[in-house]
Amino acid sequence: MAATVIDGKAFAAKVRGQVAEHVTRLKEEQGITPGLAVVLVGEDPASQVYVRSKGKMTVEVGMKSVEHKLDADTSEADLLGIIEQLNSDPSIHGILVQLPLPKHLDEDLVINSIAPEKDVDGFHISNVGLLGTGQKSMVPCTPLGCLMMLRDHHGSLSGMDAVVIGRSNIVGKPMAQLLLGDSCTVTIAHSRTKDLADVVRRADIVVAAVGRPEMVPGDWIKPGATVIDVGINRLDAPEKGEGKTRLVGDVDYESCAAVAGAITPVPGGVGPMTIACLLANTLTACCRANGLAEPDGLTA
Ligand code: NDP
Repeated sequence: MAATVIDGKAFAAKVRGQVAEHVTRLKEEQGITPGLAVVLVGEDPASQVYVRSKGKMTVEVGMKSVEHKLDADTSEADLLGIIEQLNSDPSIHGILVQLPLPKHLDEDLVINSIAPEKDVDGFHISNVGLLGTGQKSMVPCTPLGCLMMLRDHHGSLSGMDAVVIGRSNIVGKPMAQLLLGDSCTVTIAHSRTKDLADVVRRADIVVAAVGRPEMVPGDWIKPGATVIDVGINRLDAPEKGEGKTRLVGDVDYESCAAVAGAITPVPGGVGPMTIACLLANTLTACCRANGLAEPDGLTA
């Protein structure tokens, strides 16, 4: 039987709708508007596109959106100064510094200068530690989006075997922590894993976050497993015209969809959930800052 396609685009629209409703109530009942500040250093085209769409969706859900666009040669001291201002601005509840930063800036130093309670990307060392010890934290947006889709599809994940392929700080590791938090038995695979096919074949849940186009074939997938494809890879697509490209994930969609029970497509799977979770995190940060109840179903 063909796999159920987990429609991340529709699910993300639903999450943004829930965020917008909550924002409306916050404004009407508390006179509070959640605020998100995005800091972009330099002119990386992909980063510019992300920042533009983050700003647009922030406004669409009724939040205040602030953008700081800085020159590529901005000094570390100037960048830290802006973050300090945002840390102490009570109208800003979430701060995101778009990565990657230009080479002369120390990414760890910059991220760890964001107030942890405003770190809506969940990359601050305090949030990493809180997540790792099962305490209330800001959770990285992409893994949070994957978790929401898995919970929505399965209900409880307790006791399931999960394999996360990839051990990056922004996707693989926090994803594994979240699955562990939901009582999965978790294996983290990476480039040195021996017999990856065999490891993946045991999994009820496969999360692929590698950055290698279509590397997971269908014959690695246990029949009925759920496949979450985080990968975003651009391949040449001469059939669409000269210079055209197409997006593919880290799993070979056709062969995996023939075996899996459920699968996320690329595009239209995990990608749209990432910005929706950024907005959800900003709302959560705002509620926490004001001592209010957190929105149901929008946190880990
Ligand atoms: P990284 O490059 O930081 O990490 C990739 C991981 O994959 C590493 O842990 C690496 O192992 C592992 N890996 C590489 N080759 C293999 C292999 N042959 N077999 C097994 N594991 C391997 O990538 P990210 O985590 O940042 O991103 C992963 C993918 O997700 C990318 O395609 C990225 O574009 C996408 N992405 C999508 C987002 C979204 O919103 N949908 C958000 C963020 C990322 P090792 O540690 O041993 O080197």
